Amino acid sequence: MSIRIRLTRLGARRTPDGIEPSCGVMDIQKGSESYRIVTDCGLIPVRAQEPGQDPSWHVPDLSFFEDGKPIDAVRLTHVHGDHAGFTPALAKYLGPKAKVWMTSPSEAMIPNVFEDGLKAFERARVRPLFDENDVADVHLRIRRIFKPGPFEILPGITDYVHPEGHIGGACSFTTLVGGKRVHYSGDRCSHDQPGIRGAQLLPREWYPHVIANSDCTYGADPDSDRRSWREEMDRGLEQCAATLRAGAPVLFCSFGIHRGGAVIHELSRHGVPNLAPVYLDGSCRTYTEIAMSDRGRWSELDTLLHVDGVRWIGREKGERYEASQPRAYAVVSTPGMGGPGGAAAFWKRQVLPNPDALLVFTGYLAPDTDGARILEADAERRRTGVNPVLAFEDQDPDGRPRVERLPFRCKVLQIRIGAHDSQGNILEWFRGYRPETAVLCHGSEAALASLSSSLEGDIPQVVRSDQQRTIELEF
Ligand SMILES: [Zn+2]
Repeated sequence: MSIRIRLTRLGARRTPDGIEPSCGVMDIQKGSESYRIVTDCGLIPVRAQEPGQDPSWHVPDLSFFEDGKPIDAVRLTHVHGDHAGFTPALAKYLGPKAKVWMTSPSEAMIPNVFEDGLKAFERARVRPLFDENDVADVHLRIRRIFKPGPFEILPGITDYVHPEGHIGGACSFTTLVGGKRVHYSGDRCSHDQPGIRGAQLLPREWYPHVIANSDCTYGADPDSDRRSWREEMDRGLEQCAATLRAGAPVLFCSFGIHRGGAVIHELSRHGVPNLAPVYLDGSCRTYTEIAMSDRGRWSELDTLLHVDGVRWIGREKGERYEASQPRAYAVVSTPGMGGPGGAAAFWKRQVLPNPDALLVFTGYLAPDTDGARILEADAERRRTGVNPVLAFEDQDPDGRPRVERLPFRCKVLQIRIGAHDSQGNILEWFRGYRPETAVLCHGSEAALASLSSSLEGDIPQVVRSDQQRTIELEF
């Protein structure tokens, strides 16, 4: 029986430096039977250039599904917005029996991700890209994958699901079809992090013939090979302790999913709560709670978080204000890129004007985020010696947008404790599998170009997803 597989990527990047929202379609024609499997469906916020402007979203082109062929199964590699945030928009293209598959930690976190999407549409006062009914439909179809290993995703089609580091519950899917193995990696990370050990290669018998999806985030960043997670984190811990000892506060801007938990684990392990109160705020609270519960574990690579001595900021009015009263404290809060908006808006107000205080960013900062603007202003004040006043978008107590101006006097530190593989590790990963075909995706134009030239000679067919949207395989 001949088998034909058509692999299509629906996400395209907006700018050469950007990364596309992930969405891959695998159409399988097996004799007279056909199947359509979708892996990931993400959205990426397009930031307003100025405070007060409306945000928008960059999403995959779902008009592909207007061909009338229903989706038979959806698989989510992990719950980051750029991989999972647009999933409810698939609702109207799902076949009557289609299930939405994800690992059990992903299932525990996904309601918050969809809810954040709905709230963001409401706040921006734009026509929502999906609504509550779509979310409810997808929720009914969600099925959990409780442990790594093989499982039958559709009658007669076996998938191997494998932990990939990165964040809690992150996995890859490898489909065995017609004797060939087609691999969809989500984002992946082979170094250890608090709560999650680094990803290993698949069992040998599952090495893929085709890599249909990859994580090329740091594909053009040679610095990524020089950075060590441990050294970056230690730099943050040292400056945090020094600041607290000098009697001033520290704000860690952290992503809610996994990163916040990783930072408080480190603060707790290094005895920081003995120096000053340590708080957790924003959506870091919810996601850390899940990570620490049974629902947050599905693989032997999952490890425990230590959060001894850390206090959760409660949802009662006035708790933030009370927590900010000691001269010295450390707080870990979303948003990871510092804003606009979110719980960090309160803490920025306390920390930014204080020349002894320290503001720590824990990863990459996208252009036009508050974090990127603060780093630019930091570079500028080093040149000029003048402390600027910065304008931030915020909400008044009634939820109306307002612009707040804060003098910027605090110290700033950026530590790169990211959860993606470095450039060298990405290449090692591709070469470890040596597939017949590899599709390069989820990276800037420079990243795909650099990886594609490095892999020439190692892999017979290297496809850049930004140059070729569809590939056909027949065997
Ligand atoms: Zn991710």
